[in-house]
Amino acid sequence: MAALTRLLRSAATSGSTARISLSTLASEPKTGFPAGLAARLAPAPTRKERDERNVQWVFLGCPGVGKGTYASRLSQLLGIPHIATGDLVREELASTGPLSQKLVDIVNQGKLVSDEIIVELLSKRLSKGEEKGESGFILDGFPRTVRQAEILEGVMDIDLVVNLKLRKDVLMEKCLGRRICSECGKNFNLARINVEGQNGQPGMYMPPLLPPSGCMTKLITRADDTEEVVKERLRIYNDMSQPVEEFYRRQGKLLEFDLPGGIPESWPKLLQVLSLEEHDEDKQLAAA
Ligand code: AMP
Repeated sequence: MAALTRLLRSAATSGSTARISLSTLASEPKTGFPAGLAARLAPAPTRKERDERNVQWVFLGCPGVGKGTYASRLSQLLGIPHIATGDLVREELASTGPLSQKLVDIVNQGKLVSDEIIVELLSKRLSKGEEKGESGFILDGFPRTVRQAEILEGVMDIDLVVNLKLRKDVLMEKCLGRRICSECGKNFNLARINVEGQNGQPGMYMPPLLPPSGCMTKLITRADDTEEVVKERLRIYNDMSQPVEEFYRRQGKLLEFDLPGGIPESWPKLLQVLSLEEHDEDKQLAAA
């Protein structure tokens, strides 16, 4: 398969060494790390090493959980590309290419694009990055089937898989509140989640992620963020993508992370379990 060949070529040239900006990981963090996972993480880097890091991470999680938000922040912090296959699909949809017509119904019904098409799109994206001298990545939305995970496994050395988790009753609200600025492309969320604690379960507050005034009038909603389509996407996630979690769990690569709330609460905790440090200039970047 041509796509696989390109992926293979990319894998061969991008290398598989993990260089992570980590503060000292003296002991394994209590949250989420399976035994041995900490050993995959490199010791504290020097400033020079921060510039050379090259991690290959995957973000898993249900639609609406916030994979894009956290993957994008981490990619800025680590200086590596954030590659979201959903974005690649939407770019293809926005083009006038022959694939566009084929994809529109699939995506708007919340179904998965075929493994061949998605591998082809990812392969092209990796090749482009390779030409630009990119190395390392955070993959978001791929793999979504065990077959995709096996294809990836055959060609890339994935260092770490972060599985973001959020209570089910909140996911739908998060998807319905999602907005994109049609001009700058940034993602926002108008949903204000405020769930009271019940039966010993803690409550949860997630403030909305509001756009700056310049974006406010340009907000659009994704065609697949309607209630009916989100239900279908959640159903498909349970059927097709949850087995991917097990695939990586068995390999000892899965880091489970239960989001405790919105970004202000969750981001520092995520950095903590990843033993990452945020420097002042990174904070400014992530906030931008
Ligand atoms: P997302 O933005 O990740 O929710 O993706 C939007 C849509 O793109 C999905 O509902 C699928 O139709 C398609 N898609 C994205 N990534 C994949 C993938 N890895 N496999 C199959 N379809 C995908």
